[in-house]
Amino acid sequence: MLGTTMDFPLTLQHVFERGTQLFPNREIVTGGLGPRHRYTYREMGQRVHRLASAFQRLGLQPGERVATFGWNHYRHLEMYFAIPMQGAVLHTLNIRLFHDQLTYIVNHAADRFIVVDRSLLPVLQKLAPTFDTVEKLIVVDDGADCEVGDALDYEELLASGAEHFDFPRLDENTAAMMCYTSGTTDNPKGVAYSHRALTLHSFGASLADSLGVSQRDTVLAVVPMFHANAWGLPYASTLVGAKQVFPGNSMAAERVLELMQDEGVTLGAGVPTIWIGALPLLQAGKYDLSTVTRIACGGSAAPRGLIDAYDKLGLNIVHAWGMTEMSPLGSVSVPLVELDAADPAVRLDFKACQGMAVPGVEARVLDGDGQQVAWDGQTMGELIVRGPWVTATYYNDDRSAASFTSDGWFRTGDIVVMHPNGFIEIADRTKDVIKSGGEWISSVALENALMAHPKVQEAAVIGVPDERWSERPMACVVPRPEFKGTVTEEELSTFLAQQFAKWWLPEHYLFLVELPKTSVGKFDKKAMRAQYAQVSI
Ligand code: AMP
Repeated sequence: MLGTTMDFPLTLQHVFERGTQLFPNREIVTGGLGPRHRYTYREMGQRVHRLASAFQRLGLQPGERVATFGWNHYRHLEMYFAIPMQGAVLHTLNIRLFHDQLTYIVNHAADRFIVVDRSLLPVLQKLAPTFDTVEKLIVVDDGADCEVGDALDYEELLASGAEHFDFPRLDENTAAMMCYTSGTTDNPKGVAYSHRALTLHSFGASLADSLGVSQRDTVLAVVPMFHANAWGLPYASTLVGAKQVFPGNSMAAERVLELMQDEGVTLGAGVPTIWIGALPLLQAGKYDLSTVTRIACGGSAAPRGLIDAYDKLGLNIVHAWGMTEMSPLGSVSVPLVELDAADPAVRLDFKACQGMAVPGVEARVLDGDGQQVAWDGQTMGELIVRGPWVTATYYNDDRSAASFTSDGWFRTGDIVVMHPNGFIEIADRTKDVIKSGGEWISSVALENALMAHPKVQEAAVIGVPDERWSERPMACVVPRPEFKGTVTEEELSTFLAQQFAKWWLPEHYLFLVELPKTSVGKFDKKAMRAQYAQVSI
């Protein structure tokens, strides 16, 4: 074999070293409800060394899992590096999951420690007896007034570490992080990201024809660090030396806009709900966002009208699509040079598409027989993908096989059309999961609960468009004959509220005589959406 290039491992250590060595004075700022915190990459680097050493002294072994249960802040960033770089695995827990799902996930991942924001501690204290493997809770003090009990304090732990930690040279395929998907009635599925995947993903996010993260940027990730790695932005930003801004424990539109204005943010990133909430404030001229060059928006479809409204304010929304299983970046709606001369309406159409596969990611669209469909902007099919940051399996899960084609492509479950220019446009999902504010709501779970009500004969729940949250659940209910005309929305809502978080509760109720069914007797949700989605608006 010819001698070629060096066998240089693509690990987070390179990402960390580059950022802290070349950009020691760049700032990392954390907002939130308390006072704003700021420090430099240099200080972040020093604390990452101490933290890694402290965890080693606590007995953390390579390969073991440390979970986090927290908002976006600088200490979360420290853990993003300290834990994977010592060969252990950082497991970000989604703070919005149901309690029994959290128990399942913590036990399935066999987490040894959980680092939790103090304001979120009561949830975990309640669940602690259901965790099989957790030895200690470690508390990040965010100023909340909660009893800490016998949990360790993050700052005390960090202070117990040595000034310098010798990070091992890791194999680039070592697991660095893990994250669980959610939203189905089934148990969540875990995905583990390798160092190589996260490093290449950082390159991918930094390309000009992607999110173009650079050392000139000030990046605000409103997208949570507990869901799909905050779109990989903390790593990409560190790799290139961007100033980083975190919203802390408040994602309220006013706070986010205040941070963007005060810190001179150039790149903001968040789900459509955030930008929908911010729009009236921006239209009222309350904030000066003249430093912003682009706003990455994804997680659920960014409405065309939203993109248009931001355009009119001189703010450029860049639509992106991704999945937990893809670390998560899959495609970005880039301004194609061929479209420069196109009609503004056509340009907007493409801006509202989910865009082109990011370099590194390959995309195909298959019909029901597994054949590739034409790239004609009309033929629908399931999007399949492969690439160095696409998961190869679900962690320790015998449901994995169903999500991959026989030749190893990942089946996204998204139904799309592919335009002749390679732009992906999402048309629907194979599953009927409802996306509300970037989080998933299981329609089946709500239906099952509703059908358990003594006055309900049948119920189906579908997602209907919502300006603020993208989608909200609508319940289509057939009452038992004896309760026809007497069962009320209020009583069903009160009934569901005993089992579900408030944001899961259906926004609309429709009382019907019967529900449309498919040939095999299943609820025909496609037909329901077509028939009833407009009723709610
Ligand atoms: P999650 O893994 O929770 O981030 O969810 C991934 C799913 O969210 C994808 O499979 C899509 O169904 C949906 N999704 C993500 N981004 C977009 C987008 N820009 N437009 C439409 N759907 C999206």
